[in-house]
Amino acid sequence: MSAPIPEQIRYCAECGRPTPAGELARFGDVLVCANCKQTYAQKLREGAATTGVIVYGGFWIRFVASLIDSIILGTFGYVLQLAFVGSPFTAVPVEPGVPPSPELMGRLMGTVGLLYLFSVVMAACYEGLFVGKLGATPGKMCFSLKVIRPNDSPVSVARAFGRYFAKLLSGFALLIGYIIAAFDSQKRALHDMICDTRVIRTRK
Ligand SMILES: [Zn+2]
Repeated sequence: MSAPIPEQIRYCAECGRPTPAGELARFGDVLVCANCKQTYAQKLREGAATTGVIVYGGFWIRFVASLIDSIILGTFGYVLQLAFVGSPFTAVPVEPGVPPSPELMGRLMGTVGLLYLFSVVMAACYEGLFVGKLGATPGKMCFSLKVIRPNDSPVSVARAFGRYFAKLLSGFALLIGYIIAAFDSQKRALHDMICDTRVIRTRK
């Protein structure tokens, strides 16, 4: 003879009342009590409520999204770089077979430094403006990924710029800051933890 299994108690997602699980109505992942069922169903029809499932953007999908971003950024960055800074090969003429003078080497280093600075500014603007204004970079948009704050609110432009520089940290030490996203329950990379952001999928 076994004792009857006590019925599980769950909270109504609308009014918060503890209710036996059997008496709750299920809408997706959301459980609602009998009293709230009508109003909740109405809210769903009006689009004011969701079925409450948050899907975080996982490691691989974000990896592919960032590959797309690097291709876009690399292509446009190169065109803009040629237009504004010029190629290091034309900016500093190095004759083949002739060892460059220290003066020429200095100019070459200067141009390479300028190009590096230019690429960082480009990438920061790309991330900062796309994420801050539209919630996602074009690469993330391909997969309906969005960068949000924990309370679902959008990320400001300032935070999006900060997040870009925090991303540089994630890239140190064999990309460990990115890899930890695979093990976090909310799939946060190091830069998400630093800037208190999450990456979610808006369409499944
Ligand atoms: Zn209720």
